[in-house]
Amino acid sequence: MIVAAAWVGKKFAVLGLARSGAATVRALLTGGAEVVAWDGDAAKRNALSPSPRSRGEGPSSATAPATPPLPTSSGSTAPRAVEVVPGAQPTRNSPMGERALVFADPLTIDLTGFDGVVVSPGVPLNRHPIVTHAGDTPIIGDIELFAQARADLPPHKAVGITGTNGKSTTTALIHHILDQAGIPTRMGGNIGLPILAQDPLPEGGVYVLELSSYQIDLTYSLDCDVAVLLNITPDHLDRYAGFEAYAASKARLFAMQSAGHAAIIGTGDATSAAIADTLPRATRISVPADAPAYGPALAGPHNAQNALTAIAVCEALGLAADTIRAGLQSYRALPHRMAHVADVGGVAYVDDSKATNPDSTAPALNAFARIHWIVGGLAKSDDLDACRPGFGNIVHAYTIGTAAQRFAELLAPDLPVTIANTLDEAVKLAATVAQPGDTVLLSPACASFDQFSDFEARGRAFAAAVGALQ
Ligand code: ADP
Repeated sequence: MIVAAAWVGKKFAVLGLARSGAATVRALLTGGAEVVAWDGDAAKRNALSPSPRSRGEGPSSATAPATPPLPTSSGSTAPRAVEVVPGAQPTRNSPMGERALVFADPLTIDLTGFDGVVVSPGVPLNRHPIVTHAGDTPIIGDIELFAQARADLPPHKAVGITGTNGKSTTTALIHHILDQAGIPTRMGGNIGLPILAQDPLPEGGVYVLELSSYQIDLTYSLDCDVAVLLNITPDHLDRYAGFEAYAASKARLFAMQSAGHAAIIGTGDATSAAIADTLPRATRISVPADAPAYGPALAGPHNAQNALTAIAVCEALGLAADTIRAGLQSYRALPHRMAHVADVGGVAYVDDSKATNPDSTAPALNAFARIHWIVGGLAKSDDLDACRPGFGNIVHAYTIGTAAQRFAELLAPDLPVTIANTLDEAVKLAATVAQPGDTVLLSPACASFDQFSDFEARGRAFAAAVGALQ
């Protein structure tokens, strides 16, 4: 567990007790802070503290019975039946047992004097009532807490990676190269285990952090030794005032750095190139049209960008060229990123469920010759223009999810298309027409939340549907 000495005696509210929220509460308590924690889901509160008193079931309860999930629109800040017992102590069988943990909805208490309200990156800062309710109390995330803890960690380096697409691949690739080189390293942020739940690295270690723009929005003091921006294309625009605000959020990663620290920026899009122009210290990454595959799991121009970026990061960290080359060769793809699931009757089934916007689907459509394309879900954009260069490779498209009707209309002038509505149906339909040598590709260009809990569940459902064909 990673904790900061500076948390002793500090007071934090933690809103949302899923994985990283729960890890945050544990770290803050271990670090000597007082914590007011809340999640609308009683099970998540109970998971943090099995004691009747602290989970709100005992006669002298510090908390209220379960209330509905937090509202996401403003105006609903009226106190609920939640009472905070000042200085409430954890009971002896509390798994933490260090200092006060109180369960109360931060929206119902006065946050004056708190040192931070810790929220999950899923909380939309542009419209959640906690933002006005918090007043001058900073709203932060677990990456900011990690930044606060860095002074107490053995000497180390931190690499932060942001961008619209390729973050996970580049993060995992850098982590893999370092690991293969024998350098102690941990991967966290938007990938893997919550960073505060991980054990500190020994001296000389490197923390590799995947950072979404939402996480950067909740971070104020992360001075990355190496900061990376891969690319910026329109995404998540429901959470920002506009594209410029989204781009500005990513640029803050560099604003937080000390002058001497390395900045590495992909200049394949105009917005990222403009950010690089403002930073004379930036190493610019541009991908040549004839870029090779830098490793067996790194085919395609998008992966060339990820690989060239990872190479630049590892060079900045002082690794030798042959060590980096060996790491690129032994790297294996993450699940749900153009992952080969099975061959059935000579047809390849490929899971690219992680492609949640048209820009991230585009490379997959260029990677195969005869594609049966399963596309749709919760659309993030009104068009599929970024995918257009790959249309020549598509034999047939099957649309699913909320976007099924609209995408079918969009694609019909260019491609044979069938509205399948569900992933299961799409796999069945594609399997009946695909010929040996063809590829059935799930690369939805959409978020998954209309039909699945997340992109991983969507990928697993695809694999299950493929399994049912055999
Ligand atoms: P992220 O974590 O930023 O969502 P991933 O590495 O998980 O990115 O890749 C998500 C999808 O984006 C993959 O399916 C892949 O097709 C596509 N992709 C990966 N790297 C890039 C890149 N550098 N540029 C554009 N698209 C990419």
